[in-house]
Amino acid sequence: MSQGRRSVPLPKGWSRHTRPRILRRDKHACQWPVVTGGICGEPANQVDHKIPAHLGGPETDDNYWALCEWHHNQKTAREASAVAHARPPRARPAQPHPGLLP
Ligand SMILES: [Zn+2]
Repeated sequence: MSQGRRSVPLPKGWSRHTRPRILRRDKHACQWPVVTGGICGEPANQVDHKIPAHLGGPETDDNYWALCEWHHNQKTAREASAVAHARPPRARPAQPHPGLLP
């Protein structure tokens, strides 16, 4: 699997150890908090830094969480625009998750 473009290399043992460990810990469910309370809960296949490494996020389990692909893309896009504006990410109104629509 490709790791895509990254300015910060992933820690050693990421794909073989860290990633599967976090997915197991989070029960392969997306941990993204939703406005109605609780978490997204969609099947997660991404492990992400809550605080990205280039913003000083630590390489610890506390800073990792499992996300579904949709939320991972949302977060990546948000971080890209935050970097473009040289500002830390901030909370914005959540967009509805396609999996949660009626
Ligand atoms: Zn999600």
